[in-house]
Amino acid sequence: MKKINKILVANRGEIALRVMRSAKEMGIKTVAIFSTADREALHVRFADEAVWIGEAPSAESYLKGEAIIAICQQLDVDAIHPGYGFLSENATFARQVAEAGLTFIGPSPEAIEVMGSKLAAKEAVSKFDVPLVPGTPSAITDRAAAKKIAKEIGYPILIKASAGGGGKGMRLVEKEEDFDEQMERAVSEAVSAFGDDSVFIEKYITSPKHIEIQILGDQAGNLVYLFERECSIQRRHQKVIEEAPSAVLTPAVRQAMGDAAIKVAQACNYYNAGTVEFVMDEQLNFYFLEMNTRLQVEHPVTEMITGIDLVKEQIKIAQGESLSFQQEDLQIRGHALEVRVYAEDPKNNFLPDIGQLKTYVRPQGLGVRVDDGFEQGMEIPIYYDPMIAKLVAFGKDRTEAIARMRRAIAEYKITGIETTLPFCDFVLGHEAFVSGKFDTNFVQKFFTPASLQVTLTQEEIEVVSIVAAKLLEARQATTAQPSPNGVATTSNWRKNRV
Ligand code: ADP
Ligand code: ADP
Ligand code: MG
Repeated sequence: MKKINKILVANRGEIALRVMRSAKEMGIKTVAIFSTADREALHVRFADEAVWIGEAPSAESYLKGEAIIAICQQLDVDAIHPGYGFLSENATFARQVAEAGLTFIGPSPEAIEVMGSKLAAKEAVSKFDVPLVPGTPSAITDRAAAKKIAKEIGYPILIKASAGGGGKGMRLVEKEEDFDEQMERAVSEAVSAFGDDSVFIEKYITSPKHIEIQILGDQAGNLVYLFERECSIQRRHQKVIEEAPSAVLTPAVRQAMGDAAIKVAQACNYYNAGTVEFVMDEQLNFYFLEMNTRLQVEHPVTEMITGIDLVKEQIKIAQGESLSFQQEDLQIRGHALEVRVYAEDPKNNFLPDIGQLKTYVRPQGLGVRVDDGFEQGMEIPIYYDPMIAKLVAFGKDRTEAIARMRRAIAEYKITGIETTLPFCDFVLGHEAFVSGKFDTNFVQKFFTPASLQVTLTQEEIEVVSIVAAKLLEARQATTAQPSPNGVATTSNWRKNRV
């Protein structure tokens, strides 16, 4: 065992705070790094020590692996938690951390490497009896041959960048005529976004659900799964609403998916926290998509239903401790939902809408958790992911969790920028969502900007009625007959009430 006394969190925003909170509860000291854009950020204030790392662009700050390691050495840090995004899935960084004698709070560099390439991942798991989406097993080099395979698989198909992530590097091809053009685009996107031109073909599962399994493993090879998260409400192939458990899984399918996830983890000798993502069809057949070798954005919903602090477990595993529980000890209790509050305008194609948080009042009360990194008056920087917060609601069942989330959304006051909150409220109130029978096409199928009809609060209704009354009064005054002494006879009672 290598006891961790001080952790540097190589990240920013809500996830940096999230990690530091667990560290603090464990009596571990924390070090924050920050860019010029984040000088005032909450994670900087929360940490025991904070070090300026560089200018705002990620490449000049949060991605400077060697500088981060140097800070650890100066400040006697034992371990680095990478959060998600940035360096979290960078095998070279994980290796450098170990070589510097520090602990990387995550899996081995080898596991990160294998799972970082969607193709290498598929190859590794193919020997472990895990269902895969039909497709090409290796990178496409001969496009004519690939076109033939696409025909055999049957349209629609997806062309995916092997190095892709964050919903980028994916092209849907509906029919053969479009194949060449989309292939051209997919390759050039793969090169520009990921510096790797390897693309492959996958059958497009129609009406797909995105279901993922959280796993935890220790360095002795013990592995457990912490059930599923349903993340089918997506825009641009990126999640906006997540929940646990899924409304549609049966206990048998849940177990089968859990077992498959464990096999995926075994395929790369995985330890620490990880997520195995599956796509599921309407008959509940599931297929392995990829593994994310890090803490996931939506991990809080799993924490709520299992009562397990995933960050604490990550730290304990990194210290070399064995898991303190087995599969049989784990149970699902209640239901949790998470909505991602992005600084985006849902009425304008979910384009980022960054700026200042003029009003920022968090919801409170039973079963409500807000993970964020901002306060009223702060600016959402343009340099990073435009996520403001994750709003999590927990209830005894799905119905209560939905009602609680809608109550919390109504309580959340954000002005100065547009956010995804009204969109999320629309989804939670939609019958398809309530029924559980929805897929990743939800937004395309059901959402238009007009879906966000303005609903007014009682206070707003009162203001509107006062304004209407005044307008009416003004109109009546101009049409009223003047009395002999020149004063309009229209009553002024409304005005007196104002
Ligand atoms: P999760 O996979 O945890 O559900 P996301 O897919 O939104 O959540 O990704 C988590 C974070 O990592 C986001 O900030 C996203 O922008 C970032 N990210 C994921 N993959 C990549 C990538 N390949 N390149 C750059 N950023 C990425
Ligand atoms: P990323 O690395 O960008 O997260 P994924 O392979 O996890 O890439 O896919 C992202 C999303 O795209 C999934 O959550 C799912 O909605 C959709 N998707 C991916 N592959 C398929 C597929 N074969 N059929 C249908 N939808 C898919
Ligand atoms: Mg994914």
